[in-house]
Amino acid sequence: MPDTNPPERGPFLEIHRDGLAVITFDDPTRGANVLTEGVLRELDRLVGELAARARAGDVRGVAVRSGKVGSFIVGADVEAIGRIEDPDQGAEAGRQGQRIYLALERLPVPTVAVINGTCMGGGTELALACRYRILTDHPKAGLALPEVQLGILPGWGGTTRLPRLIGLRSALDLLLTGKTVRGQRARKLGLVEEVVPQTVLDERPESVFRRILFDHPPDHTGARRSFLQRALEDTAPGRAVILREARKTVMEKTGGHYPAPLRILEVVRDSMGRSVEESMEIEAVALGELLASRVSKHLLHVFHLRERARKSTGLEAETGPTGVQPREVSELGVVGAGVMGGGIAQLAAEKGIQVRMKDIQHEAVASGLRHARSLFDRSVSRHRMREPEARQAMERISGGVDYGGFGQLDLVVEAVVERLDVKQTVLREVEDRVPDSCILATNTSTLSVDAMAEALSRPQNFCGMHFFNPVHKMPLVEVIRGEATSHVTLATVVALTLRLGKVPVVVRNGPGFVVNRILGPYLNEAGHLLAEGASIEAIDEAATAFGMPMGPLRLMDEVGIDIARKAGQILHEAFGDRMLPSAPLEALGATERLGVKGGGGFYRYDGRKALGPDPELYGSVDGAVPTTRREIPEADIRARLLLMMINEAARILDEGIVASAAELDLAMIMGTGFPPFRGGLLRFADEVHPRVLVERLREYQAEVGPRFAPAEPLVRLAREDLTFYASWPVPS
Ligand code: NAD
Repeated sequence: MPDTNPPERGPFLEIHRDGLAVITFDDPTRGANVLTEGVLRELDRLVGELAARARAGDVRGVAVRSGKVGSFIVGADVEAIGRIEDPDQGAEAGRQGQRIYLALERLPVPTVAVINGTCMGGGTELALACRYRILTDHPKAGLALPEVQLGILPGWGGTTRLPRLIGLRSALDLLLTGKTVRGQRARKLGLVEEVVPQTVLDERPESVFRRILFDHPPDHTGARRSFLQRALEDTAPGRAVILREARKTVMEKTGGHYPAPLRILEVVRDSMGRSVEESMEIEAVALGELLASRVSKHLLHVFHLRERARKSTGLEAETGPTGVQPREVSELGVVGAGVMGGGIAQLAAEKGIQVRMKDIQHEAVASGLRHARSLFDRSVSRHRMREPEARQAMERISGGVDYGGFGQLDLVVEAVVERLDVKQTVLREVEDRVPDSCILATNTSTLSVDAMAEALSRPQNFCGMHFFNPVHKMPLVEVIRGEATSHVTLATVVALTLRLGKVPVVVRNGPGFVVNRILGPYLNEAGHLLAEGASIEAIDEAATAFGMPMGPLRLMDEVGIDIARKAGQILHEAFGDRMLPSAPLEALGATERLGVKGGGGFYRYDGRKALGPDPELYGSVDGAVPTTRREIPEADIRARLLLMMINEAARILDEGIVASAAELDLAMIMGTGFPPFRGGLLRFADEVHPRVLVERLREYQAEVGPRFAPAEPLVRLAREDLTFYASWPVPS
């Protein structure tokens, strides 16, 4: 019998008679192995023991593995990361992990990490400290260093070891993006020595470990690099070129708002040609700085918001347990095979759901199918899917102009034209043809879900499921809970949203729901600024300098100026004067200048590529856009755009449209690309503080107009010295 010493939470060590030692991570208290302080302490002790026993000759090789299927080690404890406020404390946390991994690396016997599933952050760094790495062909098996996404860097030796193992260029690609590398790609990169079938590992793990460690050690570690690669990576001028290019890409992608990727580049540069110990010290100091930074705290906050949404049942706002289970959706109907319907059908088919598409026109069905096909083709060409998988997925979609097959559907998404009467008729027709238990969801972006429910005889089975355009790219789905929507309907639609890989945010019915209602006054303010003489670029640059992915005018071109105008009119009808459409938007929305889809809007386009602001816009539409430009300070433009959003957000929370400030922030980040490094619209607002916001709003109210009147709930926060997050916490 092997000699065993299992502690309570793992990792634990087994030593076989022939000198094979196996460290197994398998924490029974968690679904995935996390490198908590306790786990690291135990690992430290085990490595010390292994060193002594290796010297004594009774350990000849060490395998490190996980006892969890599909999961190796997911990294350090994010809770602990969040508690670090001081750079020195952060650097020390780096040194502590580095010391343990260095001891592992220096064991006088060979070591192998056996990666059978998700391997991230500190897990990948542990693997890098082993002499060999093998990966199984389990679909979840892959390595990543996603620290950059949390605003930090791999500080347990990862930033030091990775470039030394796989070369500078490949290492930067992983360090700067946090992407996961799997299978043969990992082998080709030199990140792992072998890819073994999971079944072999399940059946005779020890024989695999013995082969690698004792009998046939892999003959090389690291990447096989071409002559050209080596010429570039192994010379100082070549490395300088690579680093310069990488920095340029980072600046283009992040606008310099994210310190972590820039710091990673500096660390890699400064540690070149130095010893591992020196390099790791540089790494630890940088880790400490980043851990204590505000941006990292904001990104961690967003990470928690996403994690919470990932586990959402849709029923968090209920008091007490509901005992409700979501229904299984294996057959989905999509009515309306246009831009949105086609996208929804494609996504569902990709996730293994049978889809029946229905439209009133044959041509629309054909075009919906073509759209789905082109998205699958793109996935294949980008190696996200294999051709047979794409073909199978495509075969899951059928379409027609009748309701054939609707008698067995579990859920139907309606995505026909945005007209209440049409939608009511269509929903009634669908309701008559589907089983009583079938759930109906509308993809409306502006209409009242409750008004639609009035047409139905089973309104409890109905809710909104608001996808954003383009469906395959935009991560958010607003799940709209109507007055009559039942718990099981809500839970099923939330579960489906998650299965489709999207982020659900549950909202109440109300014009524009959350995202479009906040975007409305923001876009409209851009129109007002244009009318006052600000230039297109001044307006958009103020927004992008703040971190928005594109400016409001460029966004309107994407959405379609006609569509933005229509949404603006609906909000105006609902909320009155404060949403009165600005003259330029009202006038332009009625012209042929539709935005990207019409070949021109605020910008000129070559296909989908923006060529720059269109100078012909000035003085057009009967002077609604003035000819003469007037300089409006960037700070004012930015403040006006943001204040409009925050003021509306206060009203939305007060009306109970969304339950918490955190969910509103998540919706804006996922639905509009509101910059994650700011932590969210209301987290930003709380940092500025409601008192200051109210003062600023009053100034603009006096200077610009009554639409800036501070919302009553915001005034209340200011008066009571409260924040958004404290006043609208997440329901527990
Ligand atoms: P679209 O015009 O591309 O498609 C609508 C489709 O519905 C057309 O193919 C039309 O033939 C079909 N249709 C019309 N009447 C029908 C009927 N009685 N039965 C079956 N099919 C019928 O429109 P779209 O952009 O896909 O929008 C669809 C819905 O999604 C709208 O409610 C819209 O507000 C919403 N939405 C659109 C976007 C967007 O950006 N396009 C974003 C979010 C939500």
